[in-house]
Amino acid sequence: MGKVYLIGAGPGAPDLLTLRAAEILKRAELVFHDALVHPQTLALATRARTILVGKRSGRHSTAQSFINKRLVDSARKHGVVVRLKGGDPMLFGRAQEEIDALRGAGIDFEIVPGVTAATAASAELGVSLTRRGLARHVAFVTPRAGRGERENDWAASVLAADTAVIYMGAGLAERISAELIGRGKGRATPLVVVESATLPERRILRGTLADLPALALQAGGGPAVVLLGEVLRASPANRKAASIAKIPVYLKQA
Ligand code: SAH
Repeated sequence: MGKVYLIGAGPGAPDLLTLRAAEILKRAELVFHDALVHPQTLALATRARTILVGKRSGRHSTAQSFINKRLVDSARKHGVVVRLKGGDPMLFGRAQEEIDALRGAGIDFEIVPGVTAATAASAELGVSLTRRGLARHVAFVTPRAGRGERENDWAASVLAADTAVIYMGAGLAERISAELIGRGKGRATPLVVVESATLPERRILRGTLADLPALALQAGGGPAVVLLGEVLRASPANRKAASIAKIPVYLKQA
């Protein structure tokens, strides 16, 4: 019986992978990966067959139940099976469904955390999500509910939090801005959209909550997080986007 590793690939730049993840990728026989995983990260899995299983929201992706089944079946045939997800696997990545399926089938598994988009965006901005005296409550939310899922009150969390990071919100800009303003969040609340954080094509769009629909129109098609709260008011001038990251040579050597 093999083992399944649920690994966070980080937000984009391949050199933001953990050393633990790199070591497991080198030993992997099969890698099931998301669409957002960088080719250089996949290239570390020199012995593995790599299989794309989705997902960019709104586009075709492999059904979750099918992914769960493939993980279980693969672990019965192979030694080291990797499920490689963007960012951190335990945030907005349906990891629990995979964990439950593995647990239910009696398959050994391990989770390797990754850098999530919220903290990657915060680093790009040079703005801490928490700040002494100003921000002690950070919310990670998404307004996106899957088909047939009940809605949750994501807006209540944003209203309560000092700093909020909204995942998968780029296509829902009108709704986010209208709902938050309608429920009393200030129109002038500082807001930043960070698209493709840590990648060379990274874009930073700054404004206020009222500007969000207009900012979303300026964004390209990359993954984006929306950050809002007083901490963003002081965000300094844009740093240059990173150039193409290189995997350090010591990771490539077996
Ligand atoms: N598990 C991932 C999140 C998966 S949901 C994590 O921990 O980051 C996918 C969403 O993550 C995207 O819609 C976007 O909101 C965000 N995201 C992923 N990569 C990003 C990046 N490089 N820059 C900005 N947002 C990103």
